Amino acid sequence: PFYQRAHFLSAASRLDHAPADSGREVAFAGRSNAGKSSAINVLCHQNALARTSKTPGRTQQLIFFELDEERRLVDLPGYGFAKVSVSVKREWQQHLAHYLDCRRSLVGLVIVMDIRHPLTDYDRQMLAWGLKGEMPLLLLLTKADKLKRGPARSAQLAVERAVSNHSDRVSVQLFSALERQGVESVQGVLDRWLEV
Ligand code: GDP
Repeated sequence: PFYQRAHFLSAASRLDHAPADSGREVAFAGRSNAGKSSAINVLCHQNALARTSKTPGRTQQLIFFELDEERRLVDLPGYGFAKVSVSVKREWQQHLAHYLDCRRSLVGLVIVMDIRHPLTDYDRQMLAWGLKGEMPLLLLLTKADKLKRGPARSAQLAVERAVSNHSDRVSVQLFSALERQGVESVQGVLDRWLEV
């Protein structure tokens, strides 16, 4: 229920510009176009919430959404198709790594992947950074409506196999923002992570 109250809180280009590191927050990562904004919007029952994060100039920032005083969702930069130099990309990466490493209120990481192109280099990097800490990770295979049930299940199994060494901390979920598949399961996971 509290997801419906999600609203834009702030954007930060550096960790020291982020809101106070208290309470709990869950971060969403995903390569550009993976379907991250659509997933956040559907999970929060809002149409335009995560559009905020596509405002030019904000694409490389951490976007904080407040659920209530104690809880936040964070939209992390995707940097997939951005036409920026290698040095700028490296800067974003350091920035992201620093956030994932140092943010005490971060209790879980969702990595949104297009089910047809899972585990890109970006995803593997985020996975590796997430695994360095102790938080649980959820791999969201979105746009599941693009595949038939059998191939979707096979894609899920292949990803599960790829992360089987970390099955105690990493779970894999089929999702579709279009058909609202997996919404309640993901909300259940977030509820547990965000429970104060
Ligand atoms: P982002 O860049 O990761 O935030 O991706 P968006 O949420 O903007 O989605 C990228 C494109 O994929 C858009 O054209 C969406 O309409 C489409 N898309 C997102 N989620 C789904 C889904 O579950 N099913 C289908 N069929 N298309 C989706």
